[in-house]
Amino acid sequence: MTADPIAIARDLLRCRSVTPDEGGALVYLQRVLEQGGFTVRRTVFTEPGTTPIDNLYARIGTTQPNLMFAGHTDVVPPGDEKTWSHPPFAGEVAGDVLYGRGAVDMKGGIACFAAAALDYLAANGGKPKQGSISLLITGDEESIAVNGTIKLLKWVAERGEKFDHCVLGEPSNVEVLGDTIKAGRRGSLNGVLVVTGKQGHVAYPDRADNPVRGLVKLITAIQAPLDDGSAQFDPSNLEFTSIDIGNKTVNLIPGEARARFNIRFNDRHTQDSLKRLVGQRAQDAAEGRVRFHIEWEPSNADVFITKPGPFTDLASSAIAEVTGRTPKLSTTGGTSDARFIKDYCPVLEFGLVGQTMHAVDECAPVADLVKLTAIYRRIIEKYFA
Ligand SMILES: [Zn+2]
Repeated sequence: MTADPIAIARDLLRCRSVTPDEGGALVYLQRVLEQGGFTVRRTVFTEPGTTPIDNLYARIGTTQPNLMFAGHTDVVPPGDEKTWSHPPFAGEVAGDVLYGRGAVDMKGGIACFAAAALDYLAANGGKPKQGSISLLITGDEESIAVNGTIKLLKWVAERGEKFDHCVLGEPSNVEVLGDTIKAGRRGSLNGVLVVTGKQGHVAYPDRADNPVRGLVKLITAIQAPLDDGSAQFDPSNLEFTSIDIGNKTVNLIPGEARARFNIRFNDRHTQDSLKRLVGQRAQDAAEGRVRFHIEWEPSNADVFITKPGPFTDLASSAIAEVTGRTPKLSTTGGTSDARFIKDYCPVLEFGLVGQTMHAVDECAPVADLVKLTAIYRRIIEKYFA
């Protein structure tokens, strides 16, 4: 079986796996892994009102520790394909750069790990020296992520699988391969502040109760700083993203005013503690005079943190050996499937350079793919040494 990351990446890019379509990507990956000796299971998850999603779990070895690689084969839509200088689903290499939707986010990363694992296995008589290597790959990351990693982890755990450490292959680097490991991500929580007044004529304000005054007052109180950061994280942040009154009538005092907000929070908070904090601020500012309530959207995006230790050290040294760079442990950026994996085992994120992710002409230098494969290969080797 080929352990050529470029060949695997090109084949994956040629699968039109625009979320939520499987597009042949998992079928292909299954074949590659099975030929390398992995036992592969596939499972489809459904939920009312969502598209059924195909998922894959592959493992080689029967003992612990189990080093898991996680990722997704679904990609965001390419947009207008005519604006690409290389077709988004052709897997073209030009000027030593591989082009295509998913090149960095994250079919390239999957190809590198698969190639690294196959190469390691070939050098060790077809199986890990000890323990197990597994791949947990979903087709539902880029969309709503309800029929993907969260369910797949539960499904395989119910079948007796245990994970010891995970590398999630999302594009973690900022400028150059080796500059960043993501060792945590902030949590995310959405809410709507609703202030209720009494509708009336603007010329007779004494007969009405304008909710806009109360809304402004409560917004000011709620958006005060939440904390000043933690050892691993920048300060949490609350942003109001929309104020919605929807009143088109110039002489009408509205009956209700709403304001949406999003909180990106660090490890000094939980969803519950934030709800209490924001609710208390609003209540204090209302002084018993503003009628309000807060609607919280359900969120599966809790904060995750993997503290510096032997596992991050192992990854950092593998990266340094291949690239000559010591990566920074970062906790910036949006959410990822690491928020689900952290409930099962320590997880860090390391993949390609993220600059072209989700953009037209998404691409990865062939040299980066070769180096990332070497890094994953070193991680595997060190892990089982
Ligand atoms: Zn991704």
